[in-house]
This record gives sequence, C-alpha cells and structure tokens, in this order.
Amino acid sequence: MTGRTPSTRSDDRARPDVAVVGAGPIGLAIAWRCAARGLRVVVHDPAPGSGASAVAAGMLSPVAEAYFGERELTGLLVESAARWPAFAAELTEATGADLGYRTEGTLMVGLTGDDLAEARRLWAYQQRLGLPVTPLRPSELRDREPALATRVRGGALAPTDHQVDPRKLVPALRTAAERAGAVLVPAPVRRLGELDAAVTVVAAGCGAAALAGLPVRPVKGQVLRLRAPGGVAPGFRHVIRGYADGEQVYLVPRDSGEVVVGATVEERRDTDVSAGAVLRLLRAAVELLPELAEYDLVETVAGLRPGTPDNAPILGPLPGRPDVLAATGHHRHGIVLTPVTADLIADLVSTGEPDPLLAPFRPDRFAGVGPAVGGTDSTMKGDRWN
Ligand SMILES: Cc1cc2nc3c(=O)[nH]c(=O)nc-3n(C[C@H](O)[C@H](O)[C@H](O)COP(=O)(O)OP(=O)(O)OC[C@H]3O[C@@H](n4cnc5c(N)ncnc54)[C@H](O)[C@@H]3O)c2cc1C
Repeated sequence: MTGRTPSTRSDDRARPDVAVVGAGPIGLAIAWRCAARGLRVVVHDPAPGSGASAVAAGMLSPVAEAYFGERELTGLLVESAARWPAFAAELTEATGADLGYRTEGTLMVGLTGDDLAEARRLWAYQQRLGLPVTPLRPSELRDREPALATRVRGGALAPTDHQVDPRKLVPALRTAAERAGAVLVPAPVRRLGELDAAVTVVAAGCGAAALAGLPVRPVKGQVLRLRAPGGVAPGFRHVIRGYADGEQVYLVPRDSGEVVVGATVEERRDTDVSAGAVLRLLRAAVELLPELAEYDLVETVAGLRPGTPDNAPILGPLPGRPDVLAATGHHRHGIVLTPVTADLIADLVSTGEPDPLLAPFRPDRFAGVGPAVGGTDSTMKGDRWN
C-alpha cells in the first residue's frame, strides 16, 4: 500500500482518507492518531464504546498475562504497556479527562498450597522471560496489603502491571479523536463495500468476523462490580490476581470505591449472567479478601472478547486488499494493546510501510482459516466485499 498524506484544502469535500469501522478503544485510538496527523477520518459505529470495553476490567498486565506458548503476544503486550505512561499523559493533556490510570502494581497470590504451586510454575516461566516478578513471603504480602486473608500462602509482585478504567478511557478517546477532527457516523457498517475511503480500518471487535471474514470469535466473560460501603476507597490498592481453591479471580480497586471482580472465560456468544458464575467469582474473591463480603454488589454483567485462534490480535492489510487494514482480535488484551495498535496502524496508514512489530500479527497468518482470508483477488471482489 502507499502512504496517505493529509488532504489539502482544495479537496475538502473529497472522500475520507480513512474510514474506521468500530468506535471501541482500538478504533477510537486509531482515529485519534490518524486525525492528529492531518488525515481526514470518519468513524462508523451505532453505539460507540458498547463492545467488550464496556465490561473490561482495564488491567494493563503484560507480566501476569504472559502465558506459556504466547511469546510473540507477550512481546507486544510488554511493548504496549511501556507506551502507556506517555499515552495516558497525552490523552489527559488532550482532553483533561481522568482515566483512572493507576500504577501501584499487581499482586499475584495463591490461597492454598496447590494454588501456590500452580502459580509458581507460571511465575518461574515469566521470570525466565526476564519479566519483573518478585516473589513475596506471606508476611511481605500482608505488609503490602493487610486486607489479604491470613490463609493466603504466598505471592509475587508484578510492579509494572498497572490499570486504567475503560469506562473513562473510551469517552476520553472519543473526545480526543473528535477534537483532532475525526467525524463519528452513528450507524453500523453492513458491508465494507458501503464505505468510500482511501483506506478502511476494520476495528469492529467481534463484528470483524461478519464484516471481513476474519477468524474472530466471541469469548464470553462475566464480571461483577462491588462498591465499598460508605463511599470510601476499597481497603486495598494493588490489583490482585489470585488462585483460590483452583478458581482464578482478579480484583481491581478504583478510587471511586468500585472493585471489579472477574472473570469467566467461556466459549459462548450470549451475554447472560449465571448464578453459578456469580457464586464462584464471589466465593474466590471473598476467600482472598474477606472484607469484600461487606461490600455492595452493584453490577453483574457479561461481555464478549474478540478472540482469535492463537489469542493474538490481527493487525495489518487483508490478503489481496492493501486498502483494508484489520485491527481486531485483541481478545483479553485490547485495553493494554490500545497504544501500540494505534501507533502501528496509524504509521501504516500514513507511510504505507508496516513496522516489523506487525509481522507476527498479520491477517495472512490464518490463510485458509476463514473463507475470505487468504482468498484470491476474485474472492475479495466477490459479494462479501461489495
Ligand atoms: C470480561 C472482560 C474483561 C476484560 N478485561 C480486560 C483487561 O483487564 N485488560 C485488557 O487489556 N483487556 C480486557 N478485556 C478485553 C478488551 O475489552 C477488548 O480486547 C477490547 O475492548 C477490544 O477493543 P475493540 O475496540 O477492538 O473492540 P470492542 O471494545 O468490542 O468495540 C468494538 C466496537 O465496534 C462496534 N461495531 C461492531 N460491529 C460494527 C459494525 N458492523 N459497524 C460499526 N461498528 C461496529 C461495536 O459497536 C463496538 O463499539 C476484557 C474483556 C472482557 C469481556
């Protein structure tokens, strides 16, 4: 593809340089970055911010989420997390918005001996990758978070795993994009062929499957929101991720008194909340932090993560369509991956040159998986695209 240079005054009424499909964190951040470069940007979404981000906890966890067999994804998570401090500062500067961005770090804990043994295998792997994980004795854990249950057998600190509030982030990104000149069209895109722009960016989360034939599937996550009684801040400051009698749970404290408790991971596409999931999440949460039993239960909700076959995002031009860029499939990591995705896609739009960081995440790594992906030019010009 060739790079897009900013439109000039004489073609003010010409077609957009960039059409972005989807106004979640990914689409809005790309729109902001592109508009800030002087490109004419239109963002299409009937319900901005209504996708997975409306439910997400907002953990920025490259270390705690470094799982076996996902080294390339871990590299991208680390890269994006490193961009978060400047990204948050720039977004706050552009909008004046409080993002709920907090840097106390994450405590990873195990309740029982078995839980701790399981957690330690992962921490050892994360340490072998050179990631910052500091094992802590129970007394050191409780020095940091006195509210932890006395039963907690041990833990580790991931000091560079931070958090942001997605319900504050997405409106701020929308404000920043609009102030930079992006125009929001509050309507769905049914087919990519409806759009008339030099470059189209498919940032529609789970919607990317129907629009572009990409192998993105919904992965359901149920979460709860608790609130500390009396309008005070929760009695703990770190994000806490734990194993409790074999259940995995995370607890994300906000200054407002909110605590996000999550999350299930289910291969389902409904957004019903089940009694069993609420029970398991609450039981695990209270086992790790007994005071949560006194908190108000203010919300139970489910969302759909845009999952991919290898859990990594899909970034870059569709096969045979250099003018259509995918920026989707961010699964559990779309909030932490927002800065790097926006930078890399905006660079690709404006220079036409893919950054080497994009190489492992190209859509054509799934050639043959989806009917359109990996198809020939004639497939691309067929009904799916018109
Ligand atoms: C329970 C849960 C917890 C999570 N916790 C975290 C976390 O702690 N940290 C983290 O980094 N990530 C987390 N995530 C993942 C994160 O929320 C997603 O990866 C992220 O929201 C993806 O952003 P997105 O903009 O690609 O998609 P979405 O946020 O899903 O937004 C997609 C947007 O596209 C629009 N759209 C869809 N189809 C069309 C169409 N045809 N035309 C126009 N618009 C369309 C939708 O209306 C929506 O606004 C969590 C997700 C869930 C469900």
